[in-house]
Amino acid sequence: MAYDVTVIGSGPGGYIAAIRCAQLGMKTALIEKYNTLGGTCLNVGCIPSKALLDSTEHYHKAEKEFAEHGIGVGELSLDFGQMIARKADVVEKTTGGIDFLMQKNKIDVLRGVGSFKGGQEGAFQLSVKPEKGKAETVETKKVIIATGSKPSSIPGVEIDKKRVISSTEALSLKKLPKTMVVIGGGVIGCEMGSIFARLGTKVTVLEYMNRLIPGMDGALAKDLQRSLKKIGIDFHLGCKVEGVSATSRSTTTKATNKKGEAVEFKAEYCLVAVGRKPYTEGLNLKAVKLDTDERGRIAIDDHFATGVPGIYAIGDVVRGAMLAHKAEEEGVAVAEIIAGQKPHVDYNLIPGVVYTWPEVAGVGQTEEQLKEAGRKYKSGAYPFRASARARASMDIDGQIKVLADAETDELLGVHMIGPRVADLIAEAVVAMEYRASAEDIGRMSHAHPTYSEAFKEACLAASDNRALNI
Ligand code: FAD
Ligand code: NAD
Repeated sequence: MAYDVTVIGSGPGGYIAAIRCAQLGMKTALIEKYNTLGGTCLNVGCIPSKALLDSTEHYHKAEKEFAEHGIGVGELSLDFGQMIARKADVVEKTTGGIDFLMQKNKIDVLRGVGSFKGGQEGAFQLSVKPEKGKAETVETKKVIIATGSKPSSIPGVEIDKKRVISSTEALSLKKLPKTMVVIGGGVIGCEMGSIFARLGTKVTVLEYMNRLIPGMDGALAKDLQRSLKKIGIDFHLGCKVEGVSATSRSTTTKATNKKGEAVEFKAEYCLVAVGRKPYTEGLNLKAVKLDTDERGRIAIDDHFATGVPGIYAIGDVVRGAMLAHKAEEEGVAVAEIIAGQKPHVDYNLIPGVVYTWPEVAGVGQTEEQLKEAGRKYKSGAYPFRASARARASMDIDGQIKVLADAETDELLGVHMIGPRVADLIAEAVVAMEYRASAEDIGRMSHAHPTYSEAFKEACLAASDNRALNI
């Protein structure tokens, strides 16, 4: 069979690229090695983790907050197996939705490991090797590589998937652990740590840096640490993990703490959350003389083109943030480029979100980045403790911080920690896309009482130090 475009990998980068290619009239195939479509995000990433974050948040609220609302639930109980089963059901329905989308858009889904056999632009040959049975060969004019990423580790730490686990195994544990050490206080460490801590697991996070969620605004990291301490997570910052050993029942993690002392942490499980690495195994890149860079990524130019004409790459397997919505934007853009259009992805306006409670979200420049660039800025913040809506829902932890250009008042960065800020950040993205000033937002009506009023107030604080409700 011959295609105009063949996409390898069905994650949010790959399946969205395939849909956009099909919409633009290209005969499109999508190769996926697993039975279910959707990649890391739908199967072992965004969706299952959010399903468990929602379940555990309900449990936590029932345990800690319902009484204050005047609600008694008797003796609270936990069916961990049902919680995991519900998560699996959410994943199944969501991945099934991608099959529907492929049919709707007349995209041929080829199941098996996709690898290059040879060829050149206009006529590449790809092999598709299913788990059982013979490989078939497809011919395609162009190829989009969207093979994503896998968990990475550090020297001295081998992920055995039994006691020393990655997020993939942690999302499907059969029994709630009593104790868990998490290596890495990044996004996965904070989200997965929250899931287990809310259910009563004693969670200890070991983080190499002197702060959590590196890359996000420092003010949010401090607030987040304070909130996560309240749910019982123990943090060791400035702590360098050097090795983990495991028996069939427990793990011992060895590290050097910030005083330079050797320390040891024992736990039922050790969750390794130190980042992810691009995944190119099995692609047989050498058949088309394509190489990876020093970090294992596929090198691309500003138009997602690799060094080989006709082969493009997007998502976690290339440079940039490893985020589903970044992969999606690239999927749309690469399809449009192949169709001869001139799309643009503004990486400065790709928001980052951590789905803890309070949630954390940011877009644009952090205060640290503005300082480093020597940019003159002004800042304004509004604490959720001052928001009537937040008091009504008992979600008063957190703040919204706005950074605006000192002279023009243009929004340069918006950083939020608080209730539902994963959704609130969209307003900041729209505002910054249209190059709004802080005053523009401060003069727009925001429904009362809503969490979104906190963004308006923070903008008023930044634009002219004139927040109204504080
Ligand atoms: P992937 O989703 O990794 O998909 C790649 C696909 O390619 C896979 O299905 C793989 O099987 C397939 N493949 C690989 N090689 C071959 C081959 N040779 N032949 C055929 N198929 C192949 N991001 C967010 O934005 N929000 C979140 O809330 C979020 N939560 C996350 C939680 C966790 C626990 C994890 C691990 C990640 C999370 N992410 C989140 C990150 C997000 O999942 C990734 O950024 C996103 O999935 C990347 O999409 P992708 O299409 O590049 O690759
Ligand atoms: P991360 O880069 O967010 O965090 C890894 C952390 O491990 C860092 O804080 C790092 O300093 C620390 N670390 C590294 N070596 C260490 C050592 N020897 N000892 C102690 N700490 C060490 O990576 P992650 O949390 O594994 O997540 C992987 C990717 O998945 C990220 O790129 C993220 O964007 C994506 N993801 C996104 C979401 C979301 O958008 N909500 C959720 C989960 C994952």
